[in-house]
Amino acid sequence: MSLLVQKFGGSSVANLERIRNVANKIKKFKDKGDDLIIVLSAMSGETDRLLNLAKSIDQFPNQREMDVILSTGEQVTVALLSMTLNAMGIKAKSYTGTQAGILTNNVHTKAKIQSIAEDRIRKDLDDGYVVVVAGFQGVTIDGEITTLGRGGSDTTAVALAAQFKADECQIYTDVDGVYTTDPRIEKKARKLDTITFEEMLELASLGSKVLQIRSVELAGKYNVPLRVLSSLLEEPGNGTLITFEEKEHYVESEIITGIALNRDETQITVLGVPDTPGIAFNILDAIGQENIDVDLIVQNISEDGTTDFTFTVNAPDYDRALMITQKVADSMNARQVFGRTDIAKLSIVGVGMRSNSGVASRMFHALAQEKINILMISTSEIKVSVIIESKYAELAVRVLHDEFNLHIEP
Ligand code: ADP
Ligand code: ASP
Ligand code: MG
Repeated sequence: MSLLVQKFGGSSVANLERIRNVANKIKKFKDKGDDLIIVLSAMSGETDRLLNLAKSIDQFPNQREMDVILSTGEQVTVALLSMTLNAMGIKAKSYTGTQAGILTNNVHTKAKIQSIAEDRIRKDLDDGYVVVVAGFQGVTIDGEITTLGRGGSDTTAVALAAQFKADECQIYTDVDGVYTTDPRIEKKARKLDTITFEEMLELASLGSKVLQIRSVELAGKYNVPLRVLSSLLEEPGNGTLITFEEKEHYVESEIITGIALNRDETQITVLGVPDTPGIAFNILDAIGQENIDVDLIVQNISEDGTTDFTFTVNAPDYDRALMITQKVADSMNARQVFGRTDIAKLSIVGVGMRSNSGVASRMFHALAQEKINILMISTSEIKVSVIIESKYAELAVRVLHDEFNLHIEP
């Protein structure tokens, strides 16, 4: 008998038939005697629908109201699943984030979990209930509803697993594990039985949306055993386990573990900024004040006392970031501001890069052979990222998957 936290994503609860499928899976664990905390997403497409409704009223909707509307999607699915379980004779109770006592800070639409109340859920578990918690949401100390950023139900699940010291946190989704790259882009992508925590952290932060980055960070911080599995297969198998041990020995061929593609990247450029100390600070501080994360940054060599400054932000923040940058640029007498949204970030990740030089140049060479132009570059110890035009994104993924022979078991 174990305590398991199981999270089912949007496509796993997309309609009543899928919800029944989830209920049947839960029944199997319940019959074995496991205690279960279930975390659900909204039905697939629902969060986008709500977002678009809000945006059709106001391009920059009030962030508090945004959270009030966005949190409703998950409230629907948890109630429907609990009703389905009850109808099958299984005791179940749904909880919104507020009811579950998931306390967050007050950064609307990107809130971070600060604590989780234990008593109510613990009592329900002791009384034999399946506890069904709405993912992606919480509440501030002042009682305001918050959401945790797109894909945030993964983070709700890992946070609950950490709080209740679950034996495992299982993320059920529409693929049967973590692959060498998005299997929807590269048919030859290979499922990984295990992936190191470090590599998963990079892949998630670089855009492999199979796990939200915050969920991986939390799993690392609290040593939560984390597994990705299929909700759609009758027998989900072992999926992919995120491991915390260092890779003991990896074969020479295993330089790259995975490729991530982030289509949600956008670029903002300020041309002709007077090249004086503090430019980067002035622009980036104004953006940071609005809780917008800046990703890649490039400042050109200055010519005639002026310079160009380019950075990238996530697509949902693009309009606001552009507006703020325009204001700062005007106050600095910069020549021009322009943005583009037709870009993507492509990254290769692998702990094997530490002991292999020349990986970046091999990547650049492979892209050059396909005449794919690189707009920006960023590297760290275990990853290389490039910004390219989004029209080449999928081709680039396949080219690199072939270049590094990722379809072959090392
Ligand atoms: P959920 O709705 O269950 O949270 P997501 O859509 O957020 O599911 O994440 C699952 C999707 O992540 C898959 O359908 C797949 O297209 C995508 N994905 C991207 N990179 C990878 C990868 N390396 N391995 C597996 N899936 C990936
Ligand atoms: N429903 C939210 C989203 O679409 C949260 C999640 O699915 O994890 O981003
Ligand atoms: Mg997700």
